[in-house]
Amino acid sequence: MFTAFLIKYAEIGVKGKNRYVFEDALIQQIKYALRRCEGEFKIRKTQGRIYVDALTEFDLQEVVDNLQTVFGISGICPVVYVEDEGVERLKETVIDYVDRVYPDKRMTFKMMSRRARKNYPLESMELNAVLGEALLTAYPEMRVDVHDPQVFLYVEIREKIYIYSKVIPGPGGMPVGVGGKAMLLLSGGIDSPVAGYMISKRGVKIDAVYFHAPPYTSERAKQKVVDLARLLSRYSGPIYLHIINFTEIQLAIYEKCPHEELTIIMRRYMMRIAEQIARETECFGLITGESIGQVASQTMQSLYVTNEVCTMPVYRPCIGLDKQEIVNIAEKINTYETSILPYEDCCTIFVAKHPVTKPNPEYIRRHEGNLKDVIDDLLEKALKEKETIVVKIKKESFALQNSPLHPLQAD
Ligand code: ATP
Ligand code: MG
Repeated sequence: MFTAFLIKYAEIGVKGKNRYVFEDALIQQIKYALRRCEGEFKIRKTQGRIYVDALTEFDLQEVVDNLQTVFGISGICPVVYVEDEGVERLKETVIDYVDRVYPDKRMTFKMMSRRARKNYPLESMELNAVLGEALLTAYPEMRVDVHDPQVFLYVEIREKIYIYSKVIPGPGGMPVGVGGKAMLLLSGGIDSPVAGYMISKRGVKIDAVYFHAPPYTSERAKQKVVDLARLLSRYSGPIYLHIINFTEIQLAIYEKCPHEELTIIMRRYMMRIAEQIARETECFGLITGESIGQVASQTMQSLYVTNEVCTMPVYRPCIGLDKQEIVNIAEKINTYETSILPYEDCCTIFVAKHPVTKPNPEYIRRHEGNLKDVIDDLLEKALKEKETIVVKIKKESFALQNSPLHPLQAD
């Protein structure tokens, strides 16, 4: 029955000239999301509103699921368009609309008519009265509540007449593309995909880097990271995923540095390499999934020492979240199931029994000095042999089965 969607977006950051940048980016991202849906659609921007018109049949649930991945959308309203065939006909249409959308009529409502076309015979207030009365007569269980209704029923008189009442929540945030680009250090864990999601939500495009250590880490561990990048790309758009072979660097650290400092030194080299790639690819920041105190390498002292080698801002959006809070987001964005697959990553393989929790920056620097004969060559080699793949969401892999975002049943 629905033939279009009214897209609501938050006004934040939409002032002045930025408004056009914001809206254009939003339209681009809506197109990207709709490309995954069955059917043909046209996006229309009129009078500060964005509509998605369906030109063919479509699956309501599929379209809603996909639009819910577009940052910048605050609400999605499925709309019915009808021709203007007089007020009597409109009453019947509205009665029929309510019947289809609300099988249970025990609800309070408020009519929200709007005469955007001034040659329509009734004014907005008159239309509210006429349509409201028609509904109350048809469905005596319904009640008017003008202060706090359960349902706002919008009827807008334009070229055609638009009817809508459901506002399905969007993800909020800003459309990807309005905020530059950042480099995500993406591991196979729970936290880093969530970190990428959170920064992308602010309109930032994401590239990613993954450090693997074959043969200590398996091909499947790498595939898991590709899968995570793909899940993330539903929200962030296509991701350039750089894969760095970290084995030789790790072995050199293992051989020449104290084992309890291994993780910290390794993390410093990851940051250095990530920053190098970030600079070459016009990223303006790094993103990690670190959270204070979660593990030995994420104490305040450890973060201090890790951060010391970075010159770019490092964004750590999970920093103040508890593990459970991060898990909740991972579940919402559908990365959790993949993240908990048991393939080991390089951090867990070379991990020391008793890693330092309060690394001394001076010691760390001194022990890194042990690598001076080999490290430049190893870094150069790792960067030269980097593999880059473009990861995008495939239609068939898009499924938000365990998402709580399913407020609407397709009819
Ligand atoms: P995650 O769940 O994101 O793996 P974690 O709690 O396991 O995080 P660490 O393993 O200490 O934490 O890693 C901290 C951060 O460093 C990760 O969130 C990620 O951003 C980055 N990182 C760790 N290992 C890798 C890797 N192999 N490749 C890319 N980034 C990594
Ligand atoms: Mg990890």
